[in-house]
Amino acid sequence: MATRKKSTTKTATKPAAKKAPKNPKYIFIVGGVMSGVGKGIASSSIATCLQARGLNVTAMKIDPYINIDAGTMNPTEHGEVFVLKDGLETDQDMGNYERFLNIDIPAINYMTTGSVYQSVIQKERNLEYGGRNVEVVPDIPLEVIRRIKEAGKQANADVVQIEVGGTVGEYQGVLFLEALRMMKTEAPDDVAVVMVSYLPVPGSIGEMKTKPTQTAVRALNSAGVFADMIVCRSPIGVDDKRKEKIAKFCNVKLENVISAPDVDSIYDVPLNFEKDDLSMRICQQLGLKCKQKADLAGWKKFVKRSKGGTDTVKIAVVGKYFSSGDFILSDVYLSVLEAIKYSAYGLNLTPEIHYLGASHFEDKKNLKELKKFDGVLVPGGFGKTGIQGKLNVIEYVRKQGIPYFGICYGMQLMVLEYAQNVLKLKNASTEEINPKADHLVIAVQASQKDLIKEKKMGGTMRLGQYEAKLAKGSLAQKAYRADSALERHRHRYEVNTDYIEQLVAAGLDFTGVSPDGELMEIAELSKEDHPFFMGVQFHPELQARPLAPHPLFTAFVKASYETHTK
Ligand code: GLN
Repeated sequence: MATRKKSTTKTATKPAAKKAPKNPKYIFIVGGVMSGVGKGIASSSIATCLQARGLNVTAMKIDPYINIDAGTMNPTEHGEVFVLKDGLETDQDMGNYERFLNIDIPAINYMTTGSVYQSVIQKERNLEYGGRNVEVVPDIPLEVIRRIKEAGKQANADVVQIEVGGTVGEYQGVLFLEALRMMKTEAPDDVAVVMVSYLPVPGSIGEMKTKPTQTAVRALNSAGVFADMIVCRSPIGVDDKRKEKIAKFCNVKLENVISAPDVDSIYDVPLNFEKDDLSMRICQQLGLKCKQKADLAGWKKFVKRSKGGTDTVKIAVVGKYFSSGDFILSDVYLSVLEAIKYSAYGLNLTPEIHYLGASHFEDKKNLKELKKFDGVLVPGGFGKTGIQGKLNVIEYVRKQGIPYFGICYGMQLMVLEYAQNVLKLKNASTEEINPKADHLVIAVQASQKDLIKEKKMGGTMRLGQYEAKLAKGSLAQKAYRADSALERHRHRYEVNTDYIEQLVAAGLDFTGVSPDGELMEIAELSKEDHPFFMGVQFHPELQARPLAPHPLFTAFVKASYETHTK
């Protein structure tokens, strides 16, 4: 039988005087009824309102799948992959948090089931469990809790907001709800639970139904978790009668049943929540000292500008991931689309964004359709599909003087097009598509070769923030108004330096390069040759924010508009 030993550990002599760490409050956002109803936006909006009350807020997302990160998932299935500053490939909701809160969020703030299990298994291998049995419960929830607390510590946060992906009642989410239950049991006054639910209005009856929400609350309760607030997503506002019903059957205060009907723009949501004093209610419940009124002046100004500019600017985004069956999937390029919008709003313009499938332009006859756009953007991408279409588009806009902005793959293809059509290099390609081509103008990074051979594909691209030095007087340097830029990356291939001399001699300048001069970060044609023709190896869209539009997007949108008005 095991006997208990007395602890013999001595306490250390006088600890160094340190500022006491904050004891943050935790707000969990869980989903009821179904996914895809705007839980991420509701969650981002709550965080924005709390921030506007003077609190230091950090936001986390939990995704209940086995993938270690979002990097290995097909974007048509999962939407955009959002890369954090420190290189973690995450869900697009992390992008919403960064955009709404106007902050950089670190990797600790994102977790998947896979990454949590990986940590626990690694700790077990490192003998960190002291030889005891390691179990799904409590060790998995304990690791989840450790990460949540660590995120709070790293951000020195007053509030840590945690969005649990999926909906309650799903098998995959059980261990995360268990973590929530454990945290709430340990410190009931420090944890609040908000359920974002959906209230359908079936066409055949024309009446809003609360039953699915009641059922979802019951599923949450059976996990030992009780909601403090219910945000009711619905096509129309929730009336008093239904609010009362929900309060009664779902065990929440009447004033904590929040109506969140569909709105024209996601950016209206924080303002609508404030009309209901939502963040104040949360602060009161958690005993958080905050400003009496949320300061959303900057946000309001942005929203006002987004409602209509003095003129329109028409931008075509040519991508390969747009269609899925009968549906258009603009989510795949979410950050790019938002970045265009922020810059257009900043210039007092209304953006009209058109999504064009790249394959359509494999037939050169279709290229003249591009004439009606003020600017064309080719975003990031992978693989063969749509490549020829994109190359045709780039050649066309280069020759026609239509402003062009190429991002990542869009930059590589811009360089390749130049090599094929201006340098006239026969059989030039990117190693990604044709490794046997005579001229690999875009080639795999040396550091990547072994990784590819060993099939180590997950989380191994060049990821996260790197510096680019900017050439004086270039379009890029003028846009940034700086001599260098820090931007986020996600790619395996690079412009092959063997071709730089020829490309430059033929007029294509590399105006952004890595500090060691080895990696080409920005390519552009000079203003004398083209109104705006620029490609960037990084993803500027990941740092575009409503209250801080990205300078390169602004330069592109401005050039597009100016060409149009000429
Ligand atoms: N497929 C290219 C690469 O891996 C570009 C990636 C991207 O556009 N994100 O380098």
